[in-house]
Amino acid sequence: MSRSAHPAGPRYADVLPEGHYTAPPTDLNALDPRVWSRTVTRNAEGVATVGGLDVKRLAEEFGTPAYFLDEDDFRARCRAWRDAFGDEADVFYAGKAFLSRAVVRWLHEEGLNLDVCSAGELATALDAGMPAERIALHGNNKSAEEITRAVEAGVGRIVLDSFQEIVRVAHIAERLGKRQRVQIRVTVGVEAHTHEFIATAHEDQKFGLALAGGQAAEAVRRALKLDGLEVIGIHSHIGSQIFDTSGFEVAAHRVVGLLKEIRDEHGIELPEIDLGGGLGIAYTPEDDPREPHEIAKALGDIVTRECAAAGLAVPRLSVEPGRAIVGPTAFTLYKVGTTKELPGLRTYVSVDGGMSDNIRTALYDAEYSVALVSRTSTAAPMLSRVVGKHCESGDIVVRDAFLPADLAPGDLLAVPATGAYCRSMASNYNHALRPPVVAVKDGAARVIVRRETEEDLLRLDVG
Ligand SMILES: *Cc1c(COP(=O)(O)O)cnc(C)c1O
Repeated sequence: MSRSAHPAGPRYADVLPEGHYTAPPTDLNALDPRVWSRTVTRNAEGVATVGGLDVKRLAEEFGTPAYFLDEDDFRARCRAWRDAFGDEADVFYAGKAFLSRAVVRWLHEEGLNLDVCSAGELATALDAGMPAERIALHGNNKSAEEITRAVEAGVGRIVLDSFQEIVRVAHIAERLGKRQRVQIRVTVGVEAHTHEFIATAHEDQKFGLALAGGQAAEAVRRALKLDGLEVIGIHSHIGSQIFDTSGFEVAAHRVVGLLKEIRDEHGIELPEIDLGGGLGIAYTPEDDPREPHEIAKALGDIVTRECAAAGLAVPRLSVEPGRAIVGPTAFTLYKVGTTKELPGLRTYVSVDGGMSDNIRTALYDAEYSVALVSRTSTAAPMLSRVVGKHCESGDIVVRDAFLPADLAPGDLLAVPATGAYCRSMASNYNHALRPPVVAVKDGAARVIVRRETEEDLLRLDVG
């Protein structure tokens, strides 16, 4: 579509970041399957549907803003990951991406394991019936209470993150008369985010024990001496929203290097390695994530090759996708409240949520797509910024978007790929009431996390 078709519109190249959406999409009504969950489509009236339910009815029943989670899609992604890695590997869903009791049950039924990183996540997992031996506890500052609860419950592994924690977990386990299975989290000097990874210097962070300089080897040395611990392996997590496996390749090379050092020094081959999560998803159609089977093949090949070179038996592999499972399965539904045209710049479209239900744009400059879903439109594309209702100019949901120029108050917008790190990072900023999560499947919708109420807010305010 040429610029001259919209003489009144802005010159996109002047206001958009270089290389980004330099032209409006040709069809604003299309719901690109690369960014929408599997059952999302439009019905004959042009209203978007998920799991067979139309979003106008969903908005009436559940209100806005709200997250709608496509249960079939969630389960299909769990199965894709489990099948891709097969019986020789374990898939741990990273609960911090989004956790609720329903999600725990789905994970359990689909044969996945679960990572938790706090007492609250652990309580949710156990309450919903996840067997403790399929739970891993993470965190750089687990409290003694958290460790005690995890050891008492019998979690399958605790991932140790510091010298102090090695001793702390060992003491607690001994006191409880247990031997806790542990992995040692190492930093491999690789940090990967989105399309790039950097293979030097990223030891300067709070997680893990550095391979470089020997801290990781020293941690293993100390942990092996303690009766309360059974050291089962080495853990590495290199970043987030990663699109290729080259960073994992370097990480696997270095982790296997440590396994070899351990074998040479202690005469033991640790039986497990965990390469973490961080696999990317499509937030916009420009993102091109790998499929689970491609990732499984690449990681399996890398580990096998590195172990062969080191003369080690291939350890049991585990991975920890969070975003890649739940991220694509949900969208946030908002109602447009006001629109404000800034001549020559863009139109600000204000919705009834914002940074309280999606902090990622403000926090990470995350990119999202957005569509008008309560109807179709043949109006010209309008360069827009979708913003929230909070008292903060950085309260942006979608920084750059094209929406139809006839967009009006009352229209429903949906932002896809908000399943991960949106509800789980939601806040009560401005005393916003955190939105519900509604699971949709086969023409039925049910609330799995209810909307907060003013009573919820006031109940905590005891002063
Ligand atoms: C956050 C985290 C994950 C999951 O990351 P995603 O980007 O959601 O896949 C996995 N492992 C560890 C240790 C993490 O901290």
